[in-house]
Amino acid sequence: MTMQRKPGDKKRRTFSLRSIFLTMALTFATIFMLVMGYSYYDMSLIRSSSSSLAQNSIPRIMSAQRALVNLEKLKSYLTVIKESADPVSARNAYIDASALLAEQIFDVEDVAVLSHSVLNKVKLMWNTRSSLNKTRGELIRNWIHLALIVNRLSANAPDGEIKPEDFLGYDYVTEADFSGFMLSDYVKKQFTKAQEICAGVTEPGALELCRNLEPARETFERNYNYYNSYLSDLKRRSEDIEFLINLMSSSYTQNETAVISQELGYITDISRDLIYYLVLISVIVLLSCIALYVTLFAVVVRPLQKIAFFINRFNRRQGADDLTLPATKVTELSEVVELLRHLFEDVQKITSDSERITQRYSELLTISYYDELTGAHNRRALELFNRTIGDVPSRFAVMMVDIDFFKKYNDTLGHQKGDLVLRRVSLCLIKNTSESDIVYRYGGEEFCIVLQNVDKQMLSSIGRRLCHSVKLLDIINPGNDNKPVTISIGISPATTVKGQWTLDELISKADAALYEAKRQGRERFVFYDDAFDSLMPNPDEPQDGALL
Ligand code: GH3
Ligand code: MG
Ligand code: MG
Repeated sequence: MTMQRKPGDKKRRTFSLRSIFLTMALTFATIFMLVMGYSYYDMSLIRSSSSSLAQNSIPRIMSAQRALVNLEKLKSYLTVIKESADPVSARNAYIDASALLAEQIFDVEDVAVLSHSVLNKVKLMWNTRSSLNKTRGELIRNWIHLALIVNRLSANAPDGEIKPEDFLGYDYVTEADFSGFMLSDYVKKQFTKAQEICAGVTEPGALELCRNLEPARETFERNYNYYNSYLSDLKRRSEDIEFLINLMSSSYTQNETAVISQELGYITDISRDLIYYLVLISVIVLLSCIALYVTLFAVVVRPLQKIAFFINRFNRRQGADDLTLPATKVTELSEVVELLRHLFEDVQKITSDSERITQRYSELLTISYYDELTGAHNRRALELFNRTIGDVPSRFAVMMVDIDFFKKYNDTLGHQKGDLVLRRVSLCLIKNTSESDIVYRYGGEEFCIVLQNVDKQMLSSIGRRLCHSVKLLDIINPGNDNKPVTISIGISPATTVKGQWTLDELISKADAALYEAKRQGRERFVFYDDAFDSLMPNPDEPQDGALL
């Protein structure tokens, strides 16, 4: 048995199960908490970014939208200022545009600066527009003046020289919505006609008118140039303002888009980190489970299996010699192993002691069922056999053997010599019966032989052989005329069916037969007969099985 620790073995360093699992739990919990902490931090960042997006950016988008709508409105006002012929509408548009710009509704700093500049430019534009209007009024007045001259001249002109439809009437002029350019065409046309008329007039009033014609045209020309320059000024300023408005729009769009996309980009980055952390958490949980399983298996299950296997083998006494108790690094298990080691050593010692005791007991038991003097089984063994046999089987018989005139032998040669005779006769009986037949010393110099698988013929043969063999020992009995020691045998009938007679009945039948053998003269075997129970057999009758 290899349970004992060898003297050279150094004590193994062990770790308690509690500390192993505590270390594992703390390690995994720390890593888990760290990753969870990062995840929580990321989630809070996402939450704050989302809420900032909701709280700040969305209102900013809405304000930008409002600003863009206002900018569109501003554009429409400017169109009206620039293009509307109706001075009231133009003025209202100017007032609205100024009010819009003065409201400072544009909360983006760049745009607010721009709006200030736009406001100044709108003012300038309005001034230009006013000058333009004024010049236009002048132009119209010039034109009317010119028209009056031409009308008067045409009244003096010969019929057919100049037709009234060649000139635009005063009513028409006031209602007309024409530009300076159209007016210029009319003027050129009318001036040419007037010059043609003037070339032919002689009447002093008409000549006076013709002299005024050129200065009127020059005034118109000058105002017309002013008009054109104001007009181009207006166009330039309008384009200028439109450019600034577009700048404001794009500034809004770019600014807000940049802010939102920055926020969204931030959220996306954090979300990606969060996914990494979640994957990391899953991996940690998975690894923890695997590590727990492997550790449990390696440090607990495996040693326990080995211990169980060992105990099992030990219990069954199956090659426990080549087994060693498992070495384990777990303190608790190593204590169990140590206790088991002691237990097994004790059990082993007890077992070997008990084996020795059992062997001794069986030796003593064997001795107790043998007769010390003769070597045959003793009376106790016969009684035990009688108690345990149950129903006597068939082909079963009993012989009762008695040494003839033994008292005389003892009396002449002494008990010690008599003892030797008893032993020699007993051994002779044992030797001449089969192994299944058992020879018991029944008492004194009487033996009882229990025989199995026999019939009457076999019993005769055995009886004869036994009588003969004992006589052949040639033990001289001085007490019986120096004749050799002989035996008499009473034989029970052999059973033919199981349980036919009890062992006691067979013994008593054999005993009756022995009695009869003695009565008939000894040195013979006699089979039992029913008559022996009540009647003494007739000694004159031929002897059954007599040797002499
Ligand atoms: P029989 O032929 O009628 O049997 O005559 P017997 O003398 O053999 O018969 P009995 O029963 O009268 O005597 C038996 C004798 O056996 C008595 C005793 O001296 C002797 N005997 C009994 N047991 C022992 C023993 O253990 N040792 C010795 N030496 N003799 C014994
Ligand atoms: Mg006797
Ligand atoms: Mg006798």
